[in-house]
Parts: sequence; structure tokens; C-alpha cells
Amino acid sequence: MYEYIGSIHMHSKFSDGSGDADKIAQIANEVGLDFIILTDHNTLRALHEGYEKWYGNTLMLVGCELNDKFNKNHYLAFNIDETFSTRLTAKQYIKKVKDSGGIGFIAHPHEERSSMKEHPPYPWTDWDAGEFTGIEIWNHMSEWMEGLTEKNKYNHFVHPLRSIVAPPQKTLNKWDELNKTRKVVGIGGIDAHAHRINVLGFVEVEVFPYKVLFKSIRTHILVNKKLRSKNLSLEEVKEQIYGSLKSGKCFVSNNYHGDAKGFRFFAKKGEQIFQMGDSVKIDNKIKLKVILPKNNAKIKLINKGKLISTIEGREGDFIVTKPGQYRVEVYLYDKAWIFSNHIRIEN
Ligand SMILES: [Zn+2]
Ligand SMILES: [Zn+2]
Repeated sequence: MYEYIGSIHMHSKFSDGSGDADKIAQIANEVGLDFIILTDHNTLRALHEGYEKWYGNTLMLVGCELNDKFNKNHYLAFNIDETFSTRLTAKQYIKKVKDSGGIGFIAHPHEERSSMKEHPPYPWTDWDAGEFTGIEIWNHMSEWMEGLTEKNKYNHFVHPLRSIVAPPQKTLNKWDELNKTRKVVGIGGIDAHAHRINVLGFVEVEVFPYKVLFKSIRTHILVNKKLRSKNLSLEEVKEQIYGSLKSGKCFVSNNYHGDAKGFRFFAKKGEQIFQMGDSVKIDNKIKLKVILPKNNAKIKLINKGKLISTIEGREGDFIVTKPGQYRVEVYLYDKAWIFSNHIRIEN
């Protein structure tokens, strides 16, 4: 399989971001990302005005971020051609996205903060809203804002990448719980706006430049075809990227701690290989294998929300004998680095 690295969830001037859509894509190309997904609030103007295309080696796809009339239940909708009314309920737009052939991810599900009155939290409130494709397990902007205090304000603004530690445990727990009944895919988002905020009373600071956030939370996808090939149309490339996000053949990394390209987590049953997002029938035992790109790190195996085993090294083999939904977390120098999607092992 081929691996491509993308950055998901960002806003341009078409909603409340400060950058032009094409400029954002050019910056992603400079940083070396393979794809980005633009998600302006309740609008697909960038799609209808022709911004969805390649910019050098970076493909910019255009989705949008939907919300309800209370501005809650933010939902990242991809592969749709039209937006929906903000008078709809979360349940209604989840269904509409699905019915029109799109996929959708709950954005910043457990956002909670009180540091800035003008930026209240936008948590997900309706967990019975139907079949969303997945959830954003790690959102740069949410975590950064939650960690903000009067005391650390200055450091936080100066070191936006260093202040990101790990996905909220609450979100990981919810994600594992949801996976007990059906596949719910985890992705990472940056939620970049590049807002200009008056921080210290007199200086305006851009929080954060797109370029900085493109180096933080990334979503890596595994696909069957080479994306930058003359034989593939834009539609076929989109099918590959969205297919991977839909099926869960993807993982999330914090690039600030190291380039995670090359990470693999798969199940081996005899000669057969099963990737993240796949289901495997168990006979008596299955080997789960982890390969890291370069560094020795701590690999934690989690099943149904519980830590099962920890291995240190560049590789890890776990022999499992019980059904469940297995995923791994990788810590580099005790810093949260990589979060895989689940492999489902069934009786
Ligand atoms: Zn949002
Ligand atoms: Zn957003």
C-alpha cells in the first residue's frame, strides 16, 4: 500500500479564516503535504469556484464544517457537492451527508474551555445522531485553547506546537466505546484559522500561521494506488483518499515529535494481512504487528479501551487470542506521537 500524508480541517477567507484558499494550498505544498482538506463553515464556495485541484504536489480537497442552529455539533463533511441549512439538526445533516454519498467526522467532540469569552467551546452534544463515519480524535486548536491560562499565555502563543500534548482521554474513551458496536474512524485535525488576535494588549499576533499548523497534527492514509499518476483522474484520486478515511485505513500523528511516515500496524493470520479498519476472524490466535519508521518508542496496545501490553523498540509483535477492537498508541520520549485506527478481531 502507498502512504500519503495530509492535514485536515482548516478555514479560509470563505468563512472565518484569514488566508486565501489557493495560498493555503501553496503553503501546504511548500511544507510537503500530499493533501489537505479545506473545511469552511457551511460553505463549499472553494469547491464551486474551482479551488479543488493540485497545487504542485499537494492536492487540496474541499469539504465543509456544518453546525446546527445553536452553533453546536460541528461536523466535517467531505465528498459532498452542496451544503445544508444550519436549521437542520445534527441527526438530519449526518443522514444527508451519507445519503449524498459523502462521509462525515464529528469535530472537536469534547471541546471545553473558558479562557476566551469570544471563543466559546463547541462540543458535540447529540451522540445518538446516527451513522457518522468517524470522529476527530485530536484537534490542535481545541487542545491549544484548552491549555491556555493567564499565566502561560505568552509561551503558548510563542510555541504553539510545543503546547500540544495528547488527544483528550475523554475523546479516546468515547472512541473506543463507540467502536464496540460499529466501526468509527479516528482522524486528526488542525482547525487552522490564522486569526489575528490581540494578545498582550498591544500586539496583534496571527494564531497560528497555516504553515506552523501544517507541521503538527497529521492524518496519514494508506491507499492501493499511486495518487500522483497520469492514469488517475481527480475523481479517482478523491475516491482513494476518501475511501481510506471511510474505511479507517489511516492513522494520526503529531509531526512535531517526528515524521511518522512508515508507521504500520497490521494483523497477520497465516499469510494473510489485515490493515487498520479491517475485521479479522480469529481461530485461536492472531499476530498484531507494529513497525515504526525510525525511532525506538513505547508502543501501547489497547483493546476495547483498556491497555493490554506495552513494548519498547522499533517493532512490536503482539499475540492476541481474544476478540475485540485493537489499536495502538506510540509515545516518543513519553510524548504522544502516533494513534492508529482499530483492527477488529471477531469470533
Ligand atoms: Zn468547529
Ligand atoms: Zn473548524
